[in-house]
Amino acid sequence: MCTKTTHIDRTAHEPRDNSLYTLLISGIIPITPTIRLFHLSPPPCPSPVPQQPIHFLPGQWVDLYYPPFPPHQKPGGFTITSPPSSLPNYIELAIQSAPSNPPAAYLWKEPPESLLNTPVRVRIGGSFTYPPPPSTAYKKVIFVAGGVGINPIMGMLSHIASLPALEKSKKEVVVLYGMKDSDGVIQAGTTAQALFLDRIAGLFAGEDGLRGGVELFLTGSGSKGGEAGGTGDQVIQAHGVKLPFTKRRIVLGDLEEAIGAGKDEAAVYICGVPSMTDELVEGLTSPTPKGLGMDKRRVLCEKWW
Ligand SMILES: Cc1cc2nc3c(=O)[nH]c(=O)nc-3n(C[C@H](O)[C@H](O)[C@H](O)COP(=O)(O)OP(=O)(O)OC[C@H]3O[C@@H](n4cnc5c(N)ncnc54)[C@H](O)[C@@H]3O)c2cc1C
Repeated sequence: MCTKTTHIDRTAHEPRDNSLYTLLISGIIPITPTIRLFHLSPPPCPSPVPQQPIHFLPGQWVDLYYPPFPPHQKPGGFTITSPPSSLPNYIELAIQSAPSNPPAAYLWKEPPESLLNTPVRVRIGGSFTYPPPPSTAYKKVIFVAGGVGINPIMGMLSHIASLPALEKSKKEVVVLYGMKDSDGVIQAGTTAQALFLDRIAGLFAGEDGLRGGVELFLTGSGSKGGEAGGTGDQVIQAHGVKLPFTKRRIVLGDLEEAIGAGKDEAAVYICGVPSMTDELVEGLTSPTPKGLGMDKRRVLCEKWW
């Protein structure tokens, strides 16, 4: 019996569109040795495959089918990292190398240029989306990401940054981003290979930037595991934005500090590995004094593996 779980099995309970769109791979950007960015664009007009314009919400993912599109192919599941305003030009995906995952392996073919202008088919899905449900009025949004869990949050942050200045200024945005820094290059100030870190810092830069800040949690180089403790006494800079960092995992106390006194005016988005998401969601939503007693509708979560 086959016990392997694919994206389709894992997300069977999630909403997905009926429409399947054909897009062309229009750009491939290697950003780290294990992550490639892909731009997927609607075919030029007149399209050989007539289709409706594609729509999605910030944070959604795609079921991705790849050539030669055999019947019964199992799609890969990859998150859209660009905001809806990137359409009609493209949607962006950030794909981690995963040789045992057939769709990821296809997108990691060598040389990458051989994939340019070739088609893929995508179906939009997912309920981990921004903004939060209409019943939850909020003034502050806290985004919590572990590693590649930053992908849906990147799409949401870019979307908020693209809103009109007045609307944008009404929300405070805090990003708690945990990532590996095994060789210590990020804490030494080299951020180029930290997934989306420079792009996120850029969204907070300048007078028109997002209101709030980014805190980094770096593990793997003299870090202290999961114990709580003061945050952010050390700082690196990107785009002129100060990024305080702490050498340990994100713990519940960090979210409590970020939320402050306004837990009924905050929304929290968490994406990462299940060990991280489960622990933090449990802590946020358990009744006090064990947890923070937050309304479950204010805590949105997606786990990938
Ligand atoms: C909601 C969601 C969003 C995600 N977003 C991203 C993202 O933006 N970027 C990213 O890089 N990853 C993303 N992932 C993870 C991605 O879908 C894969 O899980 C990842 O590439 C790891 O693949 P894996 O084969 O190591 O493990 P698993 O996905 O756990 O697969 C285990 C095994 O099942 C088999 N299998 C899995 N999928 C297939 C398939 N389609 N066809 C045939 N056999 C299969 C393979 O033998 C595989 O080794 C997301 C996952 C989820 C659930």
